[in-house]
Amino acid sequence: MKLVFATNNLNKLAEVQKMLPDSIELLSLKDINCLEDIAETASTLEGNAQIKANHITNNYNYNCFADDTGLEVDALNGEPGVYSARYAGEPANAENNMQKLLHSLENEANRQAHFRTSICLNLNGEQHLFDGVCKGEILESKQGEKGFGYDPVFKPEGHEISFAEMSAEEKNKISHRGLAIQKLVDLLSTLA
Ligand code: IMP
Repeated sequence: MKLVFATNNLNKLAEVQKMLPDSIELLSLKDINCLEDIAETASTLEGNAQIKANHITNNYNYNCFADDTGLEVDALNGEPGVYSARYAGEPANAENNMQKLLHSLENEANRQAHFRTSICLNLNGEQHLFDGVCKGEILESKQGEKGFGYDPVFKPEGHEISFAEMSAEEKNKISHRGLAIQKLVDLLSTLA
């Protein structure tokens, strides 16, 4: 079965494809020739996931899922949250975002944070929502080279290394997106 993942982020596509059975072939936005920018105008992660999935299903007639992730930092009242991608302004830049985050938490003892992923799946005329949360803390400085986004400054609960020091497999098992995708996979696996 072909299923569109409404993203052009090849890191994410590869991360998710690894978790899916071989019978499910993921297509990116580029693969279906969707080249327009889909404006993520909602104020919640769920809302943005719905906007993206609905755009593809309504305009391209594909089964599709979309995700939206935010890093919610307790001492910053949940910021950057839905604005995580562009926390340090346009154009989106992971290094600038991390520097802004570290600066915002300077001299802050409470480093608690979590990533949250919301997934919206449009499948054969029905809509399903899933979410996944990964608790952890924001490090004082960057650690590790792997991954993307805020990975070098995020240490998941119960681990002594950052996301950026983990292999993709190790991260998938515990990550917000991994947990949300597992719920998606569980549902897709029940299909005859
Ligand atoms: P998106 O909704 O997945 O595009 O994520 C929004 C923002 O959160 C982007 O800036 C990403 O870099 C960041 N982000 C999403 N997932 C992760 C992750 O697993 N690790 C680190 N940063 C992430």
